[in-house]
Amino acid sequence: MPENCLFCKLAVDGDHVAKADGFVAIRDINPRADTHVLVLPERHIDTFRDIGELSADESKRMLEFVAQTAREAGLEDYRVLVNVGPGGGQTVFHLHWHVLGGRITGMPA
Ligand code: AMP
Ligand code: ZN
Repeated sequence: MPENCLFCKLAVDGDHVAKADGFVAIRDINPRADTHVLVLPERHIDTFRDIGELSADESKRMLEFVAQTAREAGLEDYRVLVNVGPGGGQTVFHLHWHVLGGRITGMPA
């Protein structure tokens, strides 16, 4: 685990709202929508640009888990967003998917 990676730490000891083999979901600490959860792989990947580090099976399971997390949060309609790099609004450099449901009050960045 890279030292000082907040999401590596939260993947281990965070308050998980959903969990699958290799992936967890947590509530965003600064929600920008009525429902705002983050889906992250347990193992460290810096950014979506490095998605090739995941196997085809892991990628598929991750996307299925994004949909499962939304479903378990009670959402039928929602948005899924990934910020990529500082210029794309990424502030935490451990891959994560924003799942946003209901009224949106700002862009996650
Ligand atoms: P991004 O800007 O796409 O990298 O998203 C990082 C997200 O992590 C932001 O929406 C933050 O509000 C959220 N965040 C930062 N620290 C925490 C934390 N300790 N627990 C949960 N979410 C966090
Ligand atoms: Zn990490």
